[in-house]
Amino acid sequence: MKETIIEKVKQAGVVGAGGAGFPTHVKVNAKVDTVLVNGASCEPLLMSDPYLLEQEIDTVIKGLKTVLDATGATEGIICLKGKHAKAMATVAQAVENETDPRIKMFELQDFYPAGDEHVLVNEVMGRTVPEAGLPLNVGAVVSNVESLFNIALAMDDKPVTHRYLTVTGEIRNPMVVKVPVGSLVSEVLDFAGSSLIPSYRVVDGGPMMGRVLDTTDRPVTKTTSGLIVLSEDHNVVVGKIRDPKAIRRITTSVCCQCNQCTDMCPRNLLGHDLHPHKLMRLYGTDMVPMEARKEALLCSECGVCEKFACPMGISPREVNAQIKRELAAEGIRWQATGETPENDQFKATRHIPTKRLMHRLDVVQYDTHPTISQTEFVPSHVKLLLGQHIGAPSQAVVAVGDHVTAGDLVAEIPEKALGARIHASITGVVTEVTKEAVTIKHQ
Ligand code: SF4
Ligand code: SF4
Repeated sequence: MKETIIEKVKQAGVVGAGGAGFPTHVKVNAKVDTVLVNGASCEPLLMSDPYLLEQEIDTVIKGLKTVLDATGATEGIICLKGKHAKAMATVAQAVENETDPRIKMFELQDFYPAGDEHVLVNEVMGRTVPEAGLPLNVGAVVSNVESLFNIALAMDDKPVTHRYLTVTGEIRNPMVVKVPVGSLVSEVLDFAGSSLIPSYRVVDGGPMMGRVLDTTDRPVTKTTSGLIVLSEDHNVVVGKIRDPKAIRRITTSVCCQCNQCTDMCPRNLLGHDLHPHKLMRLYGTDMVPMEARKEALLCSECGVCEKFACPMGISPREVNAQIKRELAAEGIRWQATGETPENDQFKATRHIPTKRLMHRLDVVQYDTHPTISQTEFVPSHVKLLLGQHIGAPSQAVVAVGDHVTAGDLVAEIPEKALGARIHASITGVVTEVTKEAVTIKHQ
């Protein structure tokens, strides 16, 4: 049965919908005792996961049971926040009605980053993932809600063709909308009534970890969780487009060594050997020991230090990200000690309430709980990126002029590579095939 599940998930092109798009057929090829459903909806403003739990709980539970069967896990725990009252009520009812004793639920507190895999495992299971490790190291697989939804569809031989995403911010009709993968961001924004302000930027993802798009002429991918429209001078936008070299320069000159970044760092609170304040101090000197640089490898880039902790407007997150890239280029990795980290005694008291974070980010006015669009979104065309997942870009198997039906395979995983298949998200004609993308237009 395990082999069949893995093959069907692979055929359907399922990837982690909540992160960087790790191929799910590889993730579920594991042996663990627990599967956690990450319904934390960790980033402020993003609402598609609570919506899916509310509207599609039976399908999500079907996906969960599939992963339980594949991994041999004996517990599948749906984790979500009490503030999502409708989703909570729906999940509670479904769990109560469920005859499969493996299916359970857990109510998370409303803090950031409750959905960080390491934090989630610690909160729900009381286990601590080792430094630079995976939930797998402590007997768990963490799966995003939409990934499980897609796994359930994969069992019926339906590939990933659509993505649920939140459109919010300075937009006329904030909404959760289901869009074909490859739809242009500009068309999705038009569908949501267009921007309320003339000059704006769009954040792809959440305000903490999302990135500012250079143009709205970009396609939605399997990992696009939200589109947040903000003014060009909004705090969130400005922080994300600052010159990385300038950030490093400022860091070395204005850090007051208050320790707040380390005290509030979720990974440090778990007991990981990450002390951003020390690294910031060392970056003001000529010599930074390798041991100190390697600490950056433990950074999840959650942004707590940058957006919440630092009183000087410095970004240890960005400095860590730069060091990680440098170490990757040098081929240097974290050496696991095999020891179980000991949680900081103040961990529970240093949780950051999401509401406070939203005030700090100046996005609380956009926390409007948008509802699902009742009108179907139909794009003029789709541009399916061949590299929208972790691993090797897929290889196109269609040519210009080919007629395709929604669900047809358009790009295959290169032989023996880690990757994910890509399927047509609309029915139409292939109008362009490049190294980067396959474009399909309605006929
Ligand atoms: S981004 Fe900052 S707070 Fe988050 S893990 Fe990295 S150092 Fe810690
Ligand atoms: S919080 Fe900011 S000022 Fe304080 S130690 Fe960290 S980087 Fe320096």
